[in-house]
Amino acid sequence: MYDNRPFLAAVLGNPISHSKSPRMHNYWLKKNRINGYYMPIKVKLGDFEKTIKSLISMGFSGVNVTIPHKLSALEIADESSETAQSIGAANTLIFSKEKKIYADNTDAYGFIRNIKSKFPNWDPKKGASVVLGAGGASRAVIAALLSEGSRKIIVLNRTIEKAEELKIEFNNKISVESWSHLDEIVASSSNIINTTSLGMNNETFVPIDPKSIPKEALVSDLVYTPLKTKLLKLGQDRGSKTVDGLGMLMYQGIPGFEAWFGQTPLVTEELRKILMK
Ligand code: NAP
Repeated sequence: MYDNRPFLAAVLGNPISHSKSPRMHNYWLKKNRINGYYMPIKVKLGDFEKTIKSLISMGFSGVNVTIPHKLSALEIADESSETAQSIGAANTLIFSKEKKIYADNTDAYGFIRNIKSKFPNWDPKKGASVVLGAGGASRAVIAALLSEGSRKIIVLNRTIEKAEELKIEFNNKISVESWSHLDEIVASSSNIINTTSLGMNNETFVPIDPKSIPKEALVSDLVYTPLKTKLLKLGQDRGSKTVDGLGMLMYQGIPGFEAWFGQTPLVTEELRKILMK
């Protein structure tokens, strides 16, 4: 009986009902004919650690964590990946048979794999990368670009002090510019990456002069609602390469699925359509 029990995993956050992760992981479980289930669990900030302990004792294989638990997830781990440490947050926890917690952050992996799946020859070592935003997603993108050997990363953020904090955290490997210089920085960049929440639900947009976007640049937006943000439309109109945020969301799920369920899932057009519904 014990051996036939289903594999269990979950995503913990607050709010959580909007999360696309349950749909994605349950799709992959079905496709791979794995007896398992992945569920959303709403957890308040103060309840995080005790919830994790309960899930471990119930035999869960691990969890994804989202806002507001990404920092706590790293703090409670017995061991963590270098990527999670450099980002300062975890989005994936893996529970061992010995009930130990391993923390990873797969956003950086998802960011890179998504771009390379569309543009295999993309090389962030060539040219400058401008990263808009200085929150959690920005940290993951900076860690990803550095791990790929990027030599010039310029961070712009509405609140410049937060970008300056990132500069210290990343040992001065990035530079910081004022948000008011957006157009001129973009004009000399090869990669333009929006990690702010600007562009969500079409309500806001990155205030960029379309003419400043170089035709040969790659424009990437982490926002995926809508899928084609105004920034991506501007990039497309200029003839630049563009990458949307849904791909990153799908690719970041792969390492967790592999660790919990033992198989490598595929990112497919069918999955993309399911997640867009
Ligand atoms: P966060 O830590 O809260 O950071 C939000 C960032 O957006 C900050 O830099 C903030 O600037 C900026 N911002 C918010 N409103 C702004 C405005 N009106 N004008 C200018 N800047 C503004 O959030 P996060 O976790 O980094 O997530 C950011 C976005 O990335 C979200 O849309 C999230 O859904 C998306 N994301 C996507 C993926 C994916 O897999 N595709 C993964 C992670 C995140 P201040 O510092 O000035 O407030």
